[in-house]
Amino acid sequence: MANILSVRGVERRFDKTLALQATDLDVAENDFITILGPSGCGKSTLLRIVAGLDTQTAGEVLLDGRRIDGPGADRGMVFQSYTLFPWLTVHQNICFGLREKGMTPAQQAEIAARFIAEVGLRSFENHFPKQLSGGMQQRVALARALANDPKILLLDEPFGALDNQTRALMQELLLSIWELHRKTVLFVTHDVDEAIFMANRCVVFSARP
Ligand code: ADP
Repeated sequence: MANILSVRGVERRFDKTLALQATDLDVAENDFITILGPSGCGKSTLLRIVAGLDTQTAGEVLLDGRRIDGPGADRGMVFQSYTLFPWLTVHQNICFGLREKGMTPAQQAEIAARFIAEVGLRSFENHFPKQLSGGMQQRVALARALANDPKILLLDEPFGALDNQTRALMQELLLSIWELHRKTVLFVTHDVDEAIFMANRCVVFSARP
């Protein structure tokens, strides 16, 4: 299987702090990779670099053979904390990136309806984020990321703030969506059970130093 993502010697320093030691990682298309490690070992730093939200101090990241030098619609991101636009409804949140791409309202509505159904939020289209539980907000965040049809999905402890029961449901949901769409996924977690349950490959980072 072809590599969709290549991380080559990527390192991140903040002044004297080495946040991420030189790291290599190859991700094949359709891989579901979990990155496991204790807090502070550089997992989020790596994910943010792949997302184009931060820049490495050495090395390079290639997505589909092209060097990443900023954020882009080819990467879908879901963070632990809720990042929905509070002034937009569920439907509008999911349409946000589609509108940016220049799709007509009819095209946006069709795609949004499909992903709202997939994440189990039918009849919540016109709710605002503050009217939803944490788990439901993460469903919206997942739908919003998927609606943009990214080449790779980047998830940073997406279920870390949820109670255990909701977390287990969300894990099942994400796996069923992954099986359906065969997306490539990079999933950061510090939870060993989660990392093993979700992944078809688990990459372990060790604590500094
Ligand atoms: P993890 O996601 O594994 O918990 P992070 O990638 O968030 O770890 O952080 C790795 C290390 O880099 C930590 O020691 C953290 O303190 C440091 N770090 C992260 N961001 C910054 C920053 N903006 N400035 C200085 N140090 C940072």
